[in-house]
Amino acid sequence: MQKAFKITLIPTHNQQVLINKTIGCARFVYNRFLALRKELYSTEKKALNYNACSRQLTLLKKEIAWLKEVDKFALQNSLKNLETAYKNFFYDLKKAKGKGVGFPKFKKKHVSKQSYKTNLTNGNIQVIENHLKLPKLGWVKFYKSQEITGHVVNVTVTRTSSGKYIASILCETEIEKHPQVTQNIGLDLGIKYYLVTSDGEVVDNPKYYRTQTRKLRKAHKKLSRSVKGSSNRVKAKIKLARTYSHITNLRDDFLHKLSTRLIKENSIICIEDLRVSNMIKNDNLALSISDASWSKFIVMLEYKALWHDRMVQKVGTFYPSSQTCNHCGFINPLVKDLKLREWSCPNCSSYNLRDNNAALNILGEGLKLIAKSEGINTAGETPAAKRLWY
Ligand SMILES: [Zn+2]
Repeated sequence: MQKAFKITLIPTHNQQVLINKTIGCARFVYNRFLALRKELYSTEKKALNYNACSRQLTLLKKEIAWLKEVDKFALQNSLKNLETAYKNFFYDLKKAKGKGVGFPKFKKKHVSKQSYKTNLTNGNIQVIENHLKLPKLGWVKFYKSQEITGHVVNVTVTRTSSGKYIASILCETEIEKHPQVTQNIGLDLGIKYYLVTSDGEVVDNPKYYRTQTRKLRKAHKKLSRSVKGSSNRVKAKIKLARTYSHITNLRDDFLHKLSTRLIKENSIICIEDLRVSNMIKNDNLALSISDASWSKFIVMLEYKALWHDRMVQKVGTFYPSSQTCNHCGFINPLVKDLKLREWSCPNCSSYNLRDNNAALNILGEGLKLIAKSEGINTAGETPAAKRLWY
């Protein structure tokens, strides 16, 4: 199993200079070969593949001395990325008639991702305690927030827009699996709460949420009011980027803890299939943050489920999980009103709490879908056997 460990580097001044240089050289190689490939195609209708580019790069390094100062793997990976960009473009052209990714573009200094990737060969990358050894850079100190386990495959070094240096270390690792459990759960993701489970547990939106949203709004305002080209504008830009990355870190921490616990405690996790991209498109900042966190949360659940032999079952959004009474299946159209937090079923007169009822229905529907795909007939079974109150 491959696992990525993200760490914050503490490079010395010289190491920072070299990282920046490497990122610059990687971008230079990418752009140079993109231009070459374009030109060759337009003049001679010739395609230059990765191997040909790689040979050309060796020649280019004899001409341009500063290309030899940086990590050679970073430059090779640039060529590989270019090759992938071309492949994606042609694949897209065939499948989606060019509506998707588009032709490879030149990388711009301030717009493109500031990063390079290096690979492991003959122990050129090592991790000992809080030091990471990287080609050309030597030992780079980092903040140790977690144990890095397994065999290193590659490392991506990124300079964030707030000026931090991050390394993502991809490792081939053996994951110690959680013991098997029999408990299943349904989750209703919401706006009022972060989520409500079919067991009746309410997970509130994290506390940082409000204060950080306020800070974010302030940072946005400051940037929009600053004069273009002024040093205050640069400061405001960095401040905004820092606020964003701080929120991302807090959010990721919250999402990791929650997803880890849910995966540990449950065997099957049923969840609504959120088409996040076309869900809530509005200007509300708070909503847009939680919006993004939902898709990330689901991704975390999915890969952790793979690690620990759990199952994540998605339930279609067309399914009216809020309006359906989980006791008798009656659909109550009055529940469309979001303000209605609890209701008595007009059919079977059971009392339903909005979110808990939805979570129970999601669990029931998810289990039904699994049974269907496994060819088991569950007719007659009540969708939700357990019900707790909160
Ligand atoms: Zn009912």
